[in-house]
Amino acid sequence: QTTLKSKAKDPYPDWKAGDPVPYAALCTTFSLIEMTTKRLIIQAHCALFLRQVLRLTPEDMLPTVLLMINKLAADYAGIELGIGESLVMKAIGETTGRSLEVVKNDQRVLGDLGLVAVKSRAKQPTMFKPKPLTIRGVHKGLIGIAATSGAGAQGRKVDGIKKMLAAADSHNSGKIDITVDNGGASEAKFIVRFLEGKLRLGLAERTVLVSLAQAMVCHEVEAKGEGKIPTTEQLAKGEQILKQVFSNLPSYDVIIPAMLDHGIFNLAENCKLQPGVPLKPMLAKPTKSITEVLDRFENQTFTCEYKYDGERAQIHYVAKDSEQQYKGPAGVAKKTGSGITAIFSRNSEDLSTKYPDILSKLDTWVKPDTKSFVLDCETCAWDMVEKKVLPFQQLMTRKKKDVKVEDVKVKVTVFAFDLLFLNGEAVVEKSLRERRELLHKSFNPVEGEFGFATSMNGREIDEIQQFLDDSVKASCEGLMVKMLDGAESGYEPSKRSRNWLKIKKDYLSGIGDSLDLVVLGAYYGKGKRTSVYGAFLLACYNPSTDTYETICNIGTGFSEAVLEELHPQLKDIVIERPKPFYSHSSGNQHQPDVWFEPRFVWEVKTADLTLSPRYKAACKEHVGGGGEKGISLRFPRFIKIRDDKKPDEATSSRQVAEMYQKQESVSKNKGPAVDDDF
Ligand code: ATP
Repeated sequence: QTTLKSKAKDPYPDWKAGDPVPYAALCTTFSLIEMTTKRLIIQAHCALFLRQVLRLTPEDMLPTVLLMINKLAADYAGIELGIGESLVMKAIGETTGRSLEVVKNDQRVLGDLGLVAVKSRAKQPTMFKPKPLTIRGVHKGLIGIAATSGAGAQGRKVDGIKKMLAAADSHNSGKIDITVDNGGASEAKFIVRFLEGKLRLGLAERTVLVSLAQAMVCHEVEAKGEGKIPTTEQLAKGEQILKQVFSNLPSYDVIIPAMLDHGIFNLAENCKLQPGVPLKPMLAKPTKSITEVLDRFENQTFTCEYKYDGERAQIHYVAKDSEQQYKGPAGVAKKTGSGITAIFSRNSEDLSTKYPDILSKLDTWVKPDTKSFVLDCETCAWDMVEKKVLPFQQLMTRKKKDVKVEDVKVKVTVFAFDLLFLNGEAVVEKSLRERRELLHKSFNPVEGEFGFATSMNGREIDEIQQFLDDSVKASCEGLMVKMLDGAESGYEPSKRSRNWLKIKKDYLSGIGDSLDLVVLGAYYGKGKRTSVYGAFLLACYNPSTDTYETICNIGTGFSEAVLEELHPQLKDIVIERPKPFYSHSSGNQHQPDVWFEPRFVWEVKTADLTLSPRYKAACKEHVGGGGEKGISLRFPRFIKIRDDKKPDEATSSRQVAEMYQKQESVSKNKGPAVDDDF
């Protein structure tokens, strides 16, 4: 505690009030965080640093928080760095006058490009002293790199990285010894790790959020009276307010300025759910039988809905005559003939240019009194002749960007299942029964364009079975079963909740669900498949260690056409060796022929789960693995690419462990994993 306090007073001596925050000061905090795995200590370092930023340079709070969570902006802003490992290596080589071969060789030895940058840097004599990096300067530089596009973009991106690396560590070059302190507070190390998408500090976004609340509370209490320290209640209250506000309005760009203006204790009144800022969607827990559902909802009212198999979409709208009500960030929702509109994906990406046909119709679906809304829906491809939902594969053939309404070939229908905001008010805390009534009262269904999710409130097993069969006949995946009344039936953004259950027809009596896994490597094809990759190494994601843990090899379920489509996409992201944050078997015979950047998520079906010493999935989470055996898939089968999930939204190790624990057959002896079917 004492050390933390003294460090907080002077984390970086050259930083004076009003100065742009030195990037080196943030890196010092990062290196302190890197030295521990204890969450509370990590949180304390993080909070102390944010508090210092609040004291000295509050205008840098936003870029500081963003750099801490390894992001440049909110997801809906669509800002991507678009940089692979090879560009970073090129930049390191060119900045430090070392050949690409030497850089690659160092990476082979050190296993971490961040450290390669430090090593290269440390050897470089400094001819002149560039200006030290600042947090706002690094953030701006990175945004500039992300925005670089068009002819020669790659070269200009490399130049952008070189500029930053050349200025990195100018204040402490020569002091860093990677063999002793793992690169310590090196700026080059953290810039490179940021570019790679993983700071590898064990600093979860949730921890940053809690630290931000603590820093704000301390700052405000201190501002009120000399030397006062906040009470535990004040700290808890601040944390609760910020978490609640963030869940309805997950945008630091909006929240941080509001918090600086109004204070944390007044934040809830000043920062509310608003059209233009997408919420993280509520998610469901898998089940594998109707009786499991009935057990869960015993003595509670619940409702069943068709589970449509399309793309999740959150639609935001403010009517033309109410535009003055729009308070969301500029440049996200667009002004159209209908008013201000936007449509977001499951992971908050802007889908507006994919679905202009939907956006152009919104004002024909609303009742006259409906002036603004946020809807949770599923878009499905629609057969105009047969008047029914088409399989998900049809929807996938639609262009993903810059669609013109007149060119749309695959028509879509929107099935609305929830309402989160209506006429200037958030309605997430109302019961599902009330939200559904409001939804039905506020919109007009239009055949082939817009409808309400088909629902049924019966509670008998036969009725539910019949409804499940009907849903499958209507080309749906199964049912969603949801708590209907009471506070528990409120909409819980970003939560995988027990109040929403899914029953997928294909997984009844299996493991209950498919898995969404990250592609880490591939094996060259054999026989007919020699020109493409024939099989792949997949992994789940462990958010507590920020690692990808291998779970199976897969070679089944791919048509020749799919393999041909995948090959060029994957070839572009081949890396020399596994990333340091891949947890995989080290045995020589278990290495794939090529490794990839963690970029693609695929949905995969499995017969069941088994233990295997060859894979690492959930090896620390599940009982019985002893940390040595991971959980693996038996007979995995590729279903589809999940464009709407980022690698860190893949099925988590904990979910894998839960599925394993729940599977009926877990106690039976299954024999060895039979997943290497190629
Ligand atoms: P996860 O695997 O993380 O739960 P997912 O995106 O793979 O998420 P599913 O397992 O397929 O989702 O189940 C939930 C999804 O079902 C929702 O994200 C939504 O896209 C879709 N869905 C279809 N109909 C409904 C409905 N009536 N209510 C809620 N979600 C629905």
